[in-house]
Amino acid sequence: MAGRLIVISNRIPLEGPGSGGLVVALHEALTDRGGIWIGAQETDADTASEKFTRHEAPGYEKLTFELTAKDQEEYYLGFSNSVLWPLCHRRTDLIDFESRYADGYERVNRRLAHMLAEILEPEDRVWVHDYHFFPLACFLRELGVKNRVGYFLHIPFPNGSDLPALPHHETFIDWISSYDLIGLQTQRDVAVCLEFFRGHPKAELLLDGSAKYGSRTTQVRSFPIGIDVDVMLQAADARRADATLRLGDGERLIIGVDRLDYSKGLVNRLKAMESWLQHREPDEPRATLLQIAPPSREKVLAYREIRDEMELLTGKINGEYSEIDWTPVRYIHKPVERELLAALYRRADVGLVTSLADGMNLVAKEYVASQDPEDPGVLVLSNFAGAAEQMPDALIVNPYDVDEVGEAISQALRMPLDERKARYRELMRGVQEQDIRWWTRAYLDALARCPVNLATETEG
Ligand code: ADP
Repeated sequence: MAGRLIVISNRIPLEGPGSGGLVVALHEALTDRGGIWIGAQETDADTASEKFTRHEAPGYEKLTFELTAKDQEEYYLGFSNSVLWPLCHRRTDLIDFESRYADGYERVNRRLAHMLAEILEPEDRVWVHDYHFFPLACFLRELGVKNRVGYFLHIPFPNGSDLPALPHHETFIDWISSYDLIGLQTQRDVAVCLEFFRGHPKAELLLDGSAKYGSRTTQVRSFPIGIDVDVMLQAADARRADATLRLGDGERLIIGVDRLDYSKGLVNRLKAMESWLQHREPDEPRATLLQIAPPSREKVLAYREIRDEMELLTGKINGEYSEIDWTPVRYIHKPVERELLAALYRRADVGLVTSLADGMNLVAKEYVASQDPEDPGVLVLSNFAGAAEQMPDALIVNPYDVDEVGEAISQALRMPLDERKARYRELMRGVQEQDIRWWTRAYLDALARCPVNLATETEG
């Protein structure tokens, strides 16, 4: 297909191809097709440049736009992470809004739209990633841009009943209907998004599952994101966790790996562990929860609060249940390099994912991909993680019911090898079939096929 692929994401790896499934997949898609990757870069200057900065990259171009300290505070920490993140993760109680955040979000998106409109050629396709850029297509349309513009939202689509908590929420429909294709993680997200269109007096749903608003038609489809399975397998094969991790004789391992974020259900997870400890039968083996939770967005108050809560609860549980030779919860507040992470996944008898809301949750897929096929561990997975839709062979739990999760831990620890293998085979098949390369292909094929909207005006 003619024209370049133009990818927009807030984060862009500037040193080499970068690591992490998404970054590598975008790098490969751009290397195969040629194009431009555009991302943000902080500047010390008081005013952001109106021009992109070009960076060396083989096979395609990398361009960055500047974010001043004020942009960082208002657009990134403010509107993106203190308003949109809690809104989409069903925590409207945590929304921390100031008018300057909305101004900063609009300012950065309008500036980027102007810069982008300057360099777009008629056949280019634009692929915008995530909640930092909801209004980008709308601002591009206002500038007369007619190119195909697709969007992928990596986090849950906000519930229609929560949306009025978004300041200036009336414009939200203009933002999202300006895209030609909206990609979401799950069928459930698609249903929520279409329901939002259905509920709007000026929008209508079409039979093919797309939504019409004014003169524009937007396709809404799910593309569950996957991982790079081979990289995970190689990492898990490369190293054994036993050299680093000391466990007692017969002691079992439960692993949790998450950014320290309130959406991940970490407090519930500790409480579930407490419930398991409380109900543990005398003949049940000891198990330790290794919770790896690196710091995240610490400038935002809600993130500092969850850190305090975790420290308190870990201390309380260990105070009550530790023995001289057993500490049931090991909480590590730092990142772990990928090979060790994979080795720990493989060593763990149980992978525990208890998100209260989560776009996909890649940790669930990484845990499965790292297992030894002859002696696989068991995935306990929250019904509220997007991954649950594709992974029914995990032990699916309601993370709000900590006793249910405690029982699932017990069931996982007792599960016979045959059942573990059967569940693993099904889970691994899905993880392999719909991996990260499948995801980029599926999205970009759909974007290439979706009808182009020739009208550019947005409805008021
Ligand atoms: P989110 O994108 O909300 O952080 P995901 O589970 O989808 O959640 O992705 C998290 C990614 O970050 C995974 O690839 C995971 O391996 C990685 N990660 C999470 N915690 C750590 C950690 N402590 N050390 C290294 N990588 C981590």
